[in-house]
Amino acid sequence: MKEIVLHACCAPCASYPIQLLIKDNFRPVVFFYNPNIYPFEEYKIRRDELKRYCEKKSVDFFEDEYCPDDYYNVIKGYESEPEKGQRCSLCFNLRLHKTALFAIKKDIKYFTTTLSVSPHKNSKQIFEQGKIIEAKTGVEFLEYDFKKHDGFKISRMIAKENNMYAQKYCGCRFSIR
Ligand code: SF4
Repeated sequence: MKEIVLHACCAPCASYPIQLLIKDNFRPVVFFYNPNIYPFEEYKIRRDELKRYCEKKSVDFFEDEYCPDDYYNVIKGYESEPEKGQRCSLCFNLRLHKTALFAIKKDIKYFTTTLSVSPHKNSKQIFEQGKIIEAKTGVEFLEYDFKKHDGFKISRMIAKENNMYAQKYCGCRFSIR
């Protein structure tokens, strides 16, 4: 089985991608790096829920430091952009770059992200950033469009079956409005 680092933003969004990657003969290693999440209480809820689910599925879980300034520094000047705009591209780039660096550290050749499962996100925009990071780091970004084949619907079903916490906004303080 090939290993792949799966960047994950929360448990509901990770549920179906984990299932699909295993079906595709990968061993996913979940990586939680999301300094965009506001406030810290929300961050902890999402992290703990994902950790709990990974334990249940016997999937390795790793967390990188929660450092909101990493995010605010990167999106500076783009705070009032609408969702799917430049602020989101910068946010994807930041999180995927850290994910690829983690893959290098673990000697894993592939990475991808759960972010594409959401119907509120443009997968092409995510993939563009993934490929930029691939070119920069040499770690191969796999363009998994997890929302395809009812991926979002299945992820919500798994979330319901597992009584998962489901957030009502993407993550950053600007997406709350
Ligand atoms: S809306 Fe979501 S993807 Fe866009 S900047 Fe905020 S947290 Fe990141």
